[in-house]
Amino acid sequence: MRIKRSKLWWAAALGGSVFPDLDVLYFYLVDNARTLHHHYFTHLPAFWLCVSLLGVWSSTTRIFLVAVVSHLVLDTIAGGVLWLWPLSYSNVVFVDVPATHSWWVWNFVFHWTFLLELALWVAAAYVWQANVNRRRVLS
Ligand SMILES: [Zn+2]
Repeated sequence: MRIKRSKLWWAAALGGSVFPDLDVLYFYLVDNARTLHHHYFTHLPAFWLCVSLLGVWSSTTRIFLVAVVSHLVLDTIAGGVLWLWPLSYSNVVFVDVPATHSWWVWNFVFHWTFLLELALWVAAAYVWQANVNRRRVLS
């Protein structure tokens, strides 16, 4: 069965957008939550730079890597990413989210930066629905 190229690109984009957070499995199952998961290699821009330099440059790979970098940029807003590692171990973060709730997740959910995340979800749903409507018109 042949997969349409656009479906493969969507899969690459979706895969790349969530791939860095697969380290959460290691975080909970192996590391016992001792190390901030943003410090694992899946969240290190230097790692992804090395991957991109390997020369695996199909369109699908580029889309996957752009999605990974987008993930890291969005993680930088409130979570922080080691953008300068290995030159520096400083956590680059745009907005400091204070710990005001007993469960850490609420600190992010009730912070204004969460509205940015919701806006992305709405935009993604809008694009998805527009594509569904376009396909209906074409068929
Ligand atoms: Zn992440």
